[in-house]
Parts: sequence; structure tokens; C-alpha cells
Amino acid sequence: MMHVPAFDLKRNYESVKSEIKEALDRVLDSQKFILGDEVEKFENEIASYLKVAYAIGCGSGTDALLLSLLALDVRDGDEVITTPYTFFATASSIVRLRARPVFVDIDPLTYNIDINKIEERITSRTKAVIVVHLFGQMAPIEKLEPLLSDKGVHLIEDCAQSFGSWRKANGEIKRSGTIGTFGCFSFYPTKNLGGYGDGGLMTTDIDALAKRIRKLRAHGSLNDYIHEELGMNSRLDAIQAAILRCKLRHVDEWNKKRRIIAERYHLLFETHEITEFVKYPREMEGGYHVFNQYVIRCKKRDALIEHLNEHGVGTRIYYPLPLHLQPAFDSFGYKKGDFPEAEKLSQDCLALPMYPELMPEEQEYVVETMARFYRQ
Ligand SMILES: *Cc1c(COP(=O)(O)O)cnc(C)c1O
Repeated sequence: MMHVPAFDLKRNYESVKSEIKEALDRVLDSQKFILGDEVEKFENEIASYLKVAYAIGCGSGTDALLLSLLALDVRDGDEVITTPYTFFATASSIVRLRARPVFVDIDPLTYNIDINKIEERITSRTKAVIVVHLFGQMAPIEKLEPLLSDKGVHLIEDCAQSFGSWRKANGEIKRSGTIGTFGCFSFYPTKNLGGYGDGGLMTTDIDALAKRIRKLRAHGSLNDYIHEELGMNSRLDAIQAAILRCKLRHVDEWNKKRRIIAERYHLLFETHEITEFVKYPREMEGGYHVFNQYVIRCKKRDALIEHLNEHGVGTRIYYPLPLHLQPAFDSFGYKKGDFPEAEKLSQDCLALPMYPELMPEEQEYVVETMARFYRQ
């Protein structure tokens, strides 16, 4: 029996170990740990990679979302439109500021929020829309952004799962995190650009908002012990920045590998003749999917999970319960049936092993094991 875990960060570490250790030594020798030179260099490298004016590090992806909403003065009584099918943090950041999360159902093929259903949910209270580029694929926001701009509604991109993805918009390549007012990134270890601890970052092209975010991430002060407003303690540390600078040099190559792995899964489903049981994740035209997760839709999901598990294959469910049905959001009055596409997806989605170092023979084993299950 082969063992194919859902994730294996050790393989990735092995491939960059010496660079990382050098970078860590540099930080340890400097004894500068919070923000500082290393973080500034990282922020500049990210800004030039993404071609944005400002990249501002912070403590986590969750904080990046929260800081963005704070910078837009989202508060009690406001509404923020988002998807019910994402990690909890997307909506909890809205609720933490006492605003209402207004959910819009997803597109069943790409799993992203259905862009065409957003406009009808905008009201006079709508302050922002948070679009999540789920599992590594950008939602087609190039059409949405001008529409929101006209109405004075801000677009926030949750890019936690989509570092390096892009779409062609009007003949130009636009990376995720460069279209909205803010792009919010997470460097949680399993993200495509992952650190060795928590970390996050916001992008923006707007001078005033960049300045505000820099203040908000450090107690509302620009480092002179004069506090202009209440902020947070949410800073990126130098050790994470040094690690991320190493990994940034490889992330395009790793994303390319993820795409090859995804393509190989598709082909294996065909050669093993299980396409009537398994639907693979679709890539939209004009887009570059970076497969932070490889999420299929499948028949008899829970029995399949058990079978794979018995045969040494790790899987995950992203996500077992859509956000409108989460106990923490009870008070908003959403109920079962409100977002049928999200609810259906939570019942039949399954994430297969996906990381740049996954080997063809391991993929072959995963799909062969699935085929045996469906044929028994
Ligand atoms: C990981 C993730 C976050 C939160 O990032 P953290 O760094 O873990 O706080 C937010 N949104 C989405 C879609 C995520 O996947």
C-alpha cells in the first residue's frame, strides 16, 4: 500500500532548506524581528511581482481582511456582500465589525461566487463586496469592478488561496489582488506562498488607504507613540518575511507544477473511466488557475473518503458546512435552502492530494484506488 497524504510540506522544505537556513541566519544575526528592513524588502518584492503601488504585511490573512474593512470604515449597520462558500474568516471579519454578511450563491462549475448575481443584492447600505478567488482560481471580476466603482462600493479580493493566479482582462494580464480596492493575502503554511507560521498582506494602489492600513496594523500609530485612532497589533515578522522572500523566487515554478498535476488528474479520470462518477474542477477561459486545492465533485463521497483512507490516501472536505448555516452566524436568520448551489457542493466536494512535489505514480495510485471503489 502506498501512503499519499493530503499535504506534505516536508518535501517542499527539503527543496529550499539551504536557502531558508541562510535567510533565517540573516534575521537572527540582525536581531530585528518585527517589521523592519526584511519586511520592507519583502513588501517591495511583492509589490513589484504583482505590479501594485503598495503591499503591506500584517499578522494573518484574517487580519488582512479585517484591516481592509476597518480602513473602509465598515461598521454597525453596513452590509458586505460575499460568498457562503469559503473559509470562515472571509465572513467573520465582516461580522466582527458588526456589519451584515450578505451572501450570494456560487457558480457550480468554478465554485466561485456567481458574479452575475451580485448587482441585485446591492443596497444603500452596501459598503463592500469581498470576492474570494477560491481554491486558486480567480473569479471574473474585471466586469464587476467598474460596476461597483460606479455605485461607490469597494471591491475586496480575498486572495488567500490564489497567490500567482491571473486573468486576461482587456488583453492585459491582471494577477489576483490587483483589481479591487484591496487584495488580501494569507501566508498560512499550506497556501501557495506559505510561511512557517502566520502571516498576511494587503495590496492597494490608493495612497491614502495604504497610509491608513500602515497605521491600523500598528495601534493606529506611525511609530511615534502618537495614536491617531484605534488600530490592531498585526505586524508581519522578519523571520516570516525572510522565508517568504526565498519562496517567492520559486512560487511561479511551483504553481506551474500544480497545474501539471491538475491536468494529470483529469487525464487519469478519463483513462480509468470514472468520469461518470467524478467531475474535475473547471478552469475558466482566460484564467490561470493555481490549484491551492484540487477539489472534485464526486458520487458517494463519504464512502469514497473511507475507501481512500483505508488505502492510505489523505483527502479533505472544503467545506462541509456553508457559512450561512454556521452556528456563529445564526443571528442573521439564514436557513437551509437559501443557497442551494453552495449546499450541494458541500455534500459532494472532495479535495485530493495536491502539492508541487506530488509524484505521477502517487496520482496514478490515488485514481486507481478511486476506480476500484467505483467498480466494486
Ligand atoms: C486561509 C484563508 C483565510 C485566512 O487566512 P489566515 O492567514 O489563516 O488568517 C481567509 N480566507 C480564505 C479564503 C482562506 O483560505
